[in-house]
Amino acid sequence: MIRLYDTVRGEVRDLTLRSPGRVSMYVCGPTVYDLPHLGHGRFTLVWDVARRWFTFQGLSVHYVSNVTDVDDNIIARANLESRTESDVAAQYEKEWWDAMTRLGVARPDDTPHATHYIEGMIDLIASFLDRDVAYVTSDGVYFDVSSVPDYGLLAGQPLESLRAGARVEGSDEKRSPLDFALWKNAKPDEPSWPAPFGDGRPGWHTECVVMALDLLGEGFDLHTGGFDLKFPHHENERAQAEAAHKSFARHWAHHGFVMVGGEKMSKSLHNFTSLTDLLDKTDPRAYRLLVLRSHYRSPIEVTPSIIADAERALDRLDTLARRFQLSVLGGDNFELASSHAWEDESLELYERVVASMNDDLNTPFAVAELFEALTAANLMADEGHGASARRLAQSINALFGALGLSLLAGSHVTDEVTEKLVIERDAARLSKNWADADRIRDELVQRGWIVEDGASGTVIRRS
Ligand SMILES: [Zn+2]
Repeated sequence: MIRLYDTVRGEVRDLTLRSPGRVSMYVCGPTVYDLPHLGHGRFTLVWDVARRWFTFQGLSVHYVSNVTDVDDNIIARANLESRTESDVAAQYEKEWWDAMTRLGVARPDDTPHATHYIEGMIDLIASFLDRDVAYVTSDGVYFDVSSVPDYGLLAGQPLESLRAGARVEGSDEKRSPLDFALWKNAKPDEPSWPAPFGDGRPGWHTECVVMALDLLGEGFDLHTGGFDLKFPHHENERAQAEAAHKSFARHWAHHGFVMVGGEKMSKSLHNFTSLTDLLDKTDPRAYRLLVLRSHYRSPIEVTPSIIADAERALDRLDTLARRFQLSVLGGDNFELASSHAWEDESLELYERVVASMNDDLNTPFAVAELFEALTAANLMADEGHGASARRLAQSINALFGALGLSLLAGSHVTDEVTEKLVIERDAARLSKNWADADRIRDELVQRGWIVEDGASGTVIRRS
């Protein structure tokens, strides 16, 4: 049974599913007005790993993540650059998917766009007005949070204390500072849609509730996002579902921030200016490994030295892959536990990784088990137990594949001749044939590789 921390209950509990064997999950996606930042990279990696793990365990996953393509920031950039909003959104959505491909994040099954769901949002808002849980002001339509008795459930605070701490934003005609915009009236130079309560555009909190219920249906299994989305975004999504008398997510899960120097990352405060910049400068797998090495609810630091450390660990994986000629997994392919043979050492490893992952996605434990097994596989091969070592190495590869981490990828992709030379050089060094080892090293250097002697064999990287 997979267990996961539930934000509402404040404890780890069984992920009980609406339909046995099927997971329906909604992950709040990007607003496409700029290059993705490191926080975006973390959220997509954390939930990509969860999705892959559920699949690996034999569950059928319906994964929905939206694209917000109408919003204040998109409009601001379009006006600044004298472009249309749709042009800005299209450009940055392309950047988004390019970055996701490089990160090895599999595409969601559905990626609803806010602008394709305007009609459903208008219907929902009209029904709220009919039932007096929303009201009209001079700048739009607002939701009355006092109409939802348990408002504050996700924030973990009752309405009164939230109200006391709330900043006053938006219209001063609001009945409470916590009331939020469902609809913003049309302004000159802004995109708008006709509606019975006035031309305008939807508020952000309304799009996710409409899209999640449309694509996943009532009582879907899992709604996720960063800690910063718990309140007000997720609170307000849930409040609207409650007000519409629809059962919403059964389970809420939230992941931690990306920190720099002990502070929550903001755009002006980091070494890598964007996720795209990080992916340009480093092995794209390094960020996935870094994310895997931390628990998803903990904050992570991303600095050049932490990334470099992850890259060194990747070298050990690449060396293993070359030594045992393992196939490349991950990317758009999902691994299934049922398609691998688990026996002896592999079975023990599999059971330890499953126990870690099913206990609130404990990836740092799982990864530690896998690196320990890597050392064991190399040792077994050194001691002449080639067949068992190879079986264990294949299992390590499959389990990393289940977490979406490819061995031998990105800048480390090599050709067949290079692979063969590395294996020959490792064999030469093992038999202390230094002349051959040096000759093969020179040959690799001539082929454009930097060659180093790692703890478990030859490590190569592009010069
Ligand atoms: Zn959302």
